[in-house]
Amino acid sequence: MLEIRDLRFRYSRPAPLVLSGVDLSLKRGEIGILLGRNGSGKTTLFKTILGVCRPEEGSILFDGEDLMKMSRHERARRIAYVPQAIQFGALSVFDTVLLGRLSYFGYKAGKEDMEAVERILCDMQLEDFAARSVEELSGGERQKIAIARALAQDPQLLIFDEPTGNLDIANEQLIIEEARRVAREKGIAILTSLHDLNQALDLGDRFYFMKNGRILYTGGPETVTEAVIREVFDAEVRIVSIHDKKIIINGGNKL
Ligand code: ADP
Repeated sequence: MLEIRDLRFRYSRPAPLVLSGVDLSLKRGEIGILLGRNGSGKTTLFKTILGVCRPEEGSILFDGEDLMKMSRHERARRIAYVPQAIQFGALSVFDTVLLGRLSYFGYKAGKEDMEAVERILCDMQLEDFAARSVEELSGGERQKIAIARALAQDPQLLIFDEPTGNLDIANEQLIIEEARRVAREKGIAILTSLHDLNQALDLGDRFYFMKNGRILYTGGPETVTEAVIREVFDAEVRIVSIHDKKIIINGGNKL
């Protein structure tokens, strides 16, 4: 569904390319994870898919249609974004999630928009929060509301920038579970970046290893090897297998 070919982008000339020939494909219902060091270009890649950054070269096709030729409105009906830092206004949870319907209702929300929000709040077990102000909620709860708002867009692709960055372990698990459920039950593709490699292995179907604006390796869990991690992150790890589950341990050569 998402086909990116030879994408090149720089913030300004004569600065060097930040994306220097990115190829990536992701199918419906799949969870794709971008892995790479800080500054490797992950957020910039998200921004080009979202239309915030305009590439110099390359193409981004969505179900065969050119994303770069779509209006913001058309794009919003296909792609939703959950940013790293979520800024909410002083609104109730219900109204915040309803904002996700903007590309559908224009000026005034209709009955179907209200019903869509009720359904999402119910699916995500957030009904009890509906009337509360988002400003009173914890970080994990806000993150969940941001996902609910993104889902209200009824997207086919959900982009998450480091969804578990500032969360405690319980909230991390909650968000990972939610992402998995959305992909499996709704057939939505998810493209995300994660720093925790074990979390990535736990969640991802496809992995894209990014370095200096290029994706060096792509594939399933078999792509995640000690050698690839060494090359991409300049870090030593050891990978062990416990009950057929790969576990990555930091500091490989000291063990
Ligand atoms: P990542 O998300 O992998 O940490 P980014 O996409 O944020 O990487 O950054 C990639 C490179 O682009 C970095 O060198 C960063 O300094 C540069 N960069 C990011 N945003 C801007 C900007 N708005 N203007 C100029 N350079 C930027």
